[in-house]
This record gives sequence, structure tokens and C-alpha cells, in this order.
Amino acid sequence: MDADCYICFRPIDYTLRAPDPYSFVVDETVPLKHGGTLTHDNSGPAHRWCNAVKGTHSLAWARTRVAQLIAHGQAPARDTNINTTRIRASAWFDTNTR
Ligand SMILES: [Zn+2]
Repeated sequence: MDADCYICFRPIDYTLRAPDPYSFVVDETVPLKHGGTLTHDNSGPAHRWCNAVKGTHSLAWARTRVAQLIAHGQAPARDTNINTTRIRASAWFDTNTR
């Protein structure tokens, strides 16, 4: 089972790729520059955008900040309509049999 984002607690679509703001990244809970280490205990699954908001802040700070941004409609839109324009088969055949 795929893990949710540990900053905003929303699901992660693991099929998305950078630079999509909701693509998956591994966040270092305590930033390396603050003494954190590259270990499993010091990392968690996150959205690229949530990770960017967190920056070098604490996880608690980031959770509060991300929740505020989402509440105020300042999170990037989840673009779920890329290349999903559908053509109904009936429309296709109608056009080609004229
Ligand atoms: Zn998130």
C-alpha cells in the first residue's frame, strides 16, 4: 500500500513525475544542514510541493503551514486532466464514415 504524504496527510499519486507539485519525494525530517541524517527514521514520503514549503523548517511547522495554505486555497491545483481528453468511439466512427 502506498503511503500518504506525511506533511499534508493527503494521498500521493506515485505515477506523477517531477516537476509536478504533487509528485513524490523523500523528505528529510530533520534537514541535513540541521544535523539530520540520511536514514529511514529521519525521512518520510511527501509531495514535492509540501517538501518545498517545509524547506528547512521542522515537520510540525510544515504541517501547520501546509494546512494553512490549503485552507486558504493557496496550494497548487491538482492537475488531473492532462492528456485525458476522451473521444467516444461512436463520435470517431461517425466522423470517419461520412
Ligand atoms: Zn503533501
